[in-house]
Amino acid sequence: MKLIGGYTPWSGLDIQSFSRLESELSCDVLVIGGGISGALVSYVLSHHGSETILLEKGHIGKGSTSANTGTIHFMNDMALTELIQKFGEHKGTGFYRMCGEAVERLSQVAANLSVDIEFRRRSSLYYASTEADAGKIRNEYDKLIRHGFQVEYWNRNTIKSHFPFSKSAAIYTRRDAELNPYKMVQGLMMDATRQGLRAFENSRVQNVEYKVNGVTAKTKYGTIHAKTVIWTVGYEAQDWKPDPIVSLDCTYAVMTDPIVDLSSWHERALIWETNRPYVYMRTTKDNRIIAGGMDEPLHESGYPETNLSVRSEQLLEKIQTLFPDLGTISAAYCWSGVFASTEDGLPLIGRHPHYPHSYFIEGYGGNGTIYSMLAADLLTKAAAGEEPAELSWFSLTR
Ligand SMILES: Cc1cc2nc3c(=O)[nH]c(=O)nc-3n(C[C@H](O)[C@H](O)[C@H](O)COP(=O)(O)OP(=O)(O)OC[C@H]3O[C@@H](n4cnc5c(N)ncnc54)[C@H](O)[C@@H]3O)c2cc1C
Repeated sequence: MKLIGGYTPWSGLDIQSFSRLESELSCDVLVIGGGISGALVSYVLSHHGSETILLEKGHIGKGSTSANTGTIHFMNDMALTELIQKFGEHKGTGFYRMCGEAVERLSQVAANLSVDIEFRRRSSLYYASTEADAGKIRNEYDKLIRHGFQVEYWNRNTIKSHFPFSKSAAIYTRRDAELNPYKMVQGLMMDATRQGLRAFENSRVQNVEYKVNGVTAKTKYGTIHAKTVIWTVGYEAQDWKPDPIVSLDCTYAVMTDPIVDLSSWHERALIWETNRPYVYMRTTKDNRIIAGGMDEPLHESGYPETNLSVRSEQLLEKIQTLFPDLGTISAAYCWSGVFASTEDGLPLIGRHPHYPHSYFIEGYGGNGTIYSMLAADLLTKAAAGEEPAELSWFSLTR
């Protein structure tokens, strides 16, 4: 699967390099895949004293993780109102609460890493894309407040007094964040290896044998015996284990050249909207703007770059429509990527009946980093023999 088209700000950079697996080793947990999911779960596992080995077929951080635009929202692509309709109050609100806690966990992890991953707490403005969506915003706000989430309702005047644009209604939250995904993987790998993680690159897992007490995984030149395996191969899992509730789309992103004056951007908030597919945007530490979205079905050629130039232009226009005061802005990077989501809006995390001793992390959906974080904590407990009840919410066979 070709995961990324164009040039991302992080694709040319190198994370600490690791040698190829050329021996036979044993461990408690084998993690297959070195993206943000593999790096996070390896970091948490090794922090808890689990003997862990990570195998990456190419270079760590060069899969979908290098396309990630680094926005962290506790609110989801699927509104709380919809989740409650689908799953009932307990599960719908429980899932939103878990996402909120995962933002706090990311904040803790970021504070403890020896690399500055540009993690910053941010407010978010979630606005009504059309006049007709104002009711949706009000309804969602009421649901969030009723269930104890800290959000504010902003009307047209409040929005207008904080931003150079006007919309009929918005939800303003103060619990979100942004980060640099490339630096995050770099920091996680550096500190996880200090905690005992052994990692290998250019080591594609070609075959896994499932035995009574664990698994034996083979690469071209080496072998790993493990009690448990955690698959974190991202969207490529769909190449060999298609999940019926998953669809693959293409998403787009641009990063501008530095902007001289971003003072009209209130609190440097993350901005997104009720339209589906939506457009989202944020600022960066070095005064650039990242905008993304415009998801559409993956072109039949399978190449995510097919519509890249036209979508990049549209993303730049969208920034200029909201912030006409910024004058002419230019794109320093334009990229696109395969993007998976599930029918019901929840990620896939847990066991699969055809793969004994195995867990999967498929953090599909717009909040992939949050799902990777909550999966890392859930599966660290599961690998230690205490499978959390919430794992059933994310079942791979639902
Ligand atoms: C344009 C774009 C913007 C995005 N923006 C955001 C955002 O703002 N916020 C957010 O939360 N999420 C965002 N996402 C989603 C986010 O990028 C993903 O959730 C995340 O990168 C998934 O990480 P992963 O580790 O699961 O997969 P990957 O990063 O793809 O890592 C999987 C790794 O497994 C390796 N692998 C595969 N098969 C094997 C094998 N057999 N043996 C060994 N290794 C193997 C691959 O080489 C790869 O390195 C965005 C995605 C895209 C495309």
